[in-house]
Amino acid sequence: MAVLIDGKAKAQALRESVAQETKTLIQQGTVPGLAVVIVGDDPASQVYVRSKGEMAKEVGFASFTHTLPDSTSEDELLALVETLNNDNAVHGILVQLPLPKQIDEQRVINTISPDKDVDGFHITNVGRLSIGLDGFVPCTPLGCWMMIKEQQSDMSGLNAVIVGRSNIVGKPMAALLLKEHCTVTIAHSRTRDLPALCRTADILVAAVGRPEMIKGDWVKPGAIVIDVGINRVDAGEGKSRLVGDVAFAEAEKVAAAITPVPGGVGPMTIACLLNNTLLAAKRLN
Ligand code: NDP
Repeated sequence: MAVLIDGKAKAQALRESVAQETKTLIQQGTVPGLAVVIVGDDPASQVYVRSKGEMAKEVGFASFTHTLPDSTSEDELLALVETLNNDNAVHGILVQLPLPKQIDEQRVINTISPDKDVDGFHITNVGRLSIGLDGFVPCTPLGCWMMIKEQQSDMSGLNAVIVGRSNIVGKPMAALLLKEHCTVTIAHSRTRDLPALCRTADILVAAVGRPEMIKGDWVKPGAIVIDVGINRVDAGEGKSRLVGDVAFAEAEKVAAAITPVPGGVGPMTIACLLNNTLLAAKRLN
């Protein structure tokens, strides 16, 4: 049976260490500040933004939430981002995605100062990660990397397969594992014989968004399996439950270590956001 990678506990430990360092920074006169901008009233986004704000306060940060109506124009949002770029109390800026269709997401992301881009989505930080320079690493893959690293400190030469090629998860995950000297393959919807490819993986990261797509017999015995997917499925009697992209009950019988959903990658993502904001405050200080 696989070791269960407890993302919840690991995230709590990371938040405690961020809180500790924040105390020291505050004593030196800097209160790390995280500004979160939300446009529109998407319920899932509102839940994320609220929990980001609460967690930021818990570790001792100043938290600034800007809620804008769905009708906000691109120019209005860009003006707010510029204001936050110039606000010395703000060290990290996060614009919650998705944005309404009248707004160009890339334009907004690339207006955030790269030094305050704690999501790591600015083209400068993407470039920095891809050529191995320090910058901000996107929170979800960063959390995944931390969990893999704890299981396997030396990843050199291992086969890593990442299923999903999004800019926020798949591609930065690949860059991080390449930096660890893994042999990295990125799979996507056009990949031929995905089960066979997954079976070659010593490290398997699933970031697809399809409930329990990756079956137990796709997992190489002894692999580390990181399940990024968050999918809400019908649990009968009008209820729902969350499952990942991996068929957990099957995969845990084969893998050496596996993250659960919920309680794996999700909590680590927010903890890494706080860690990135602390880093931004230290760098800007
Ligand atoms: P995207 O929808 O942006 O990307 C999904 C990727 O999966 C695409 O590259 C797509 O391929 C690929 N894909 C889709 N279907 C298949 C298939 N049948 N076989 C192989 N590959 C396939 O998703 P995200 O990267 O944003 O998110 C992925 C999952 O992770 C979602 O469930 C999301 O909710 C979750 N998530 C969780 C986070 C957390 O904090 N735990 C944070 C971010 C995301 P193609 O490019 O060819 O279309």
